[in-house]
Amino acid sequence: MSKEKIDPKLAYEKILKCLEAHHEMMKNAIPLIASENIPSPAVREALASDFGNRYAEGWVGERLYAGCKYIDEVESIAIELGKILFNAEFIDVRPISGVIANLVAFSAFANPYDIAFALSIPTGGHISHGKKTIGGTAGAIRELEIYNYPFDEENFNIDVDKTISLIKELEANGKKPKLFILGASVFLFPHPVKEIADIAKTYDAKVIYDGAHVAGLIAGGIFQDPLREGADVFTMSTHKTLAGPQHGAIVSWSKYAETIKRIVFPGLVSNHHLHAVAGVAIAFAEAIKFYNEYARAIVSNSKALAQALYELGFDVLCEKKGFTESHMILVDVSKYGNGFEVEKKLEECNILVNRNLLPYDKRMKRDYRAPGGIRIGVQEVTRLGMGKSEMIEIANLMKMAIIDKKDPKIIREKVVELRKDFQKVKYCFSSINDAYEYIRIR
Ligand SMILES: *Cc1c(COP(=O)(O)O)cnc(C)c1O
Repeated sequence: MSKEKIDPKLAYEKILKCLEAHHEMMKNAIPLIASENIPSPAVREALASDFGNRYAEGWVGERLYAGCKYIDEVESIAIELGKILFNAEFIDVRPISGVIANLVAFSAFANPYDIAFALSIPTGGHISHGKKTIGGTAGAIRELEIYNYPFDEENFNIDVDKTISLIKELEANGKKPKLFILGASVFLFPHPVKEIADIAKTYDAKVIYDGAHVAGLIAGGIFQDPLREGADVFTMSTHKTLAGPQHGAIVSWSKYAETIKRIVFPGLVSNHHLHAVAGVAIAFAEAIKFYNEYARAIVSNSKALAQALYELGFDVLCEKKGFTESHMILVDVSKYGNGFEVEKKLEECNILVNRNLLPYDKRMKRDYRAPGGIRIGVQEVTRLGMGKSEMIEIANLMKMAIIDKKDPKIIREKVVELRKDFQKVKYCFSSINDAYEYIRIR
């Protein structure tokens, strides 16, 4: 677009209209995307503050800029709360996202061309763990040589025995692993951290636990405790089950603190999004106080939604294992078309999910554009106060949309009706404004 063809005032108005319309859409939708959440009004307040306009390079108390008095106080609190929350010796709250936290860990514990193990994308791995050939951060950016863990589809987990055999094969060719990346984007059951950490020790390799999705569950004392089970570092996004602002953090042991700090700054951040750091501090405080209850409510809702969908005829994965131990479930929707079509059809009904690859999609010649599955997360609807009866209602709405092929307009009306009573953020200190209320300050 050339400068003359766009009227800046009209564009400006259009942008602000879109923002307000987006809030209105979210108010009337059932948000089930597993990587998202709604932060508390206090976190939103932090995000709108002047912290977001400042610089504070370096570690707390050793900044390279003036004007950091309150920024330092807040970041110190974030660090203290984070250590308590994760029972950790060290935390760095400066990585600006989960991917950056992972890149910090890859850089701290491995060099280019070292060998790392990670899950493939169809088995739940994140693109930041990916091979060079698919443009993954670990492969294409850090230049690690990635091997995928053999995967046990039945138990939806890493196959430890086959992993050991694969490492033996590598050894026979004069190679050895340097990193074991655990954690995933489709994360139904705890990973075998202890078993992998035992293997890692024999090769003097390190274990990175990527808890981007499950950090809020771990904060609430369920799912698993990666540091105690043997992980060297635990990286996370702070906005998925943790329900803070979009940001990252890295938790570890004192012995690795200096190495990690040096890579974060000056290596991977200059300003580190100080408004988000304030939001993270607030989210940590909320988590210490409320997430014992919140995390348990999430897992009980995900099991309830899985059971209800299963009983209505949906192919929810891992029925024999109780479907899930986390906030998410995976559904094979291939008998209704594919994940893309189902995602779009649900979107028409104001139900937001995302299409997802299934571990066996490659064998079925399906790819990420039209995969066989959808991934559903209940962390956001749980934060709005929904419980078992709402999970059953959501399952029924999904059946009407996908199996019964009812008119989306009718379902949309039912969704709006269901949402009426769930407009506040729960599990936080103060919730005067509605969850998705649009706040004008202009
Ligand atoms: C979402 C996710 C990330 C990336 O997080 P960002 O904060 O968006 O950078 C990293 N790892 C896993 C396993 C994820 O699911």
